[in-house]
Amino acid sequence: LFITFEGGEGSGKSTQVEGLRDRLRAQGHVVVATREPGGSIGAEAVRHVLLSGAAEALGPEAEAVLLSAARADHIASVIAPALARGEIVLSDRFHDSTRVYQGQDPKADQTFLGNLERATLGGLYPDLTIILDIPAVEGLARAAKRRGRRAADRFEKEAVSRHEARRRAFLEIAQAEPERCVVVDARQPADAVAAEIAALVEDRLDA
Ligand code: C5P
Repeated sequence: LFITFEGGEGSGKSTQVEGLRDRLRAQGHVVVATREPGGSIGAEAVRHVLLSGAAEALGPEAEAVLLSAARADHIASVIAPALARGEIVLSDRFHDSTRVYQGQDPKADQTFLGNLERATLGGLYPDLTIILDIPAVEGLARAAKRRGRRAADRFEKEAVSRHEARRRAFLEIAQAEPERCVVVDARQPADAVAAEIAALVEDRLDA
């Protein structure tokens, strides 16, 4: 079972991935929790390039190529082997983030991005995607609180309107793919979000 968590900054993805991982392990499942950009040694190196601003001049297609190289490594070295062993894989972000962050650029070549996505995933789409939905201002405020004195990364610094456009893009993906995607209201207390997610996952495990 391959489950991805998506949503904007400060939507609580990492907290929920950790919570679900612990809950599933307590039930006796073998779980791999991972994240993107990153999740493998090669992909974490690409994450650093992407977030540092070194890639800022690249444009959406080149940025997507960089992320795809990282994703291919992450799939080959972490995700596919775990799934082949019958384990549950939880990923904090995956291909929907590329659709949203790179694909939202009005100049982005959608045909190119679509082809790149298919080539990179090679059919390995998530079984379930949980989209944590929160108004951009609220998510950004949470992210700033969590960050403390650490400087905001390149994306966290962007205008609220861009973050709100991404929120809409995540919701559009959920609408287009209702079999795969479930939207969860991330403004609820973390425990309530966790309970909703646990119920969704238990349904899939029973199916
Ligand atoms: O989820 P996390 O906050 O760790 O993601 C790191 C950053 O990478 C985020 O600020 C996000 O905006 C950015 N990102 C991106 N393109 C992706 C995935 C993440 O720009 N495809």
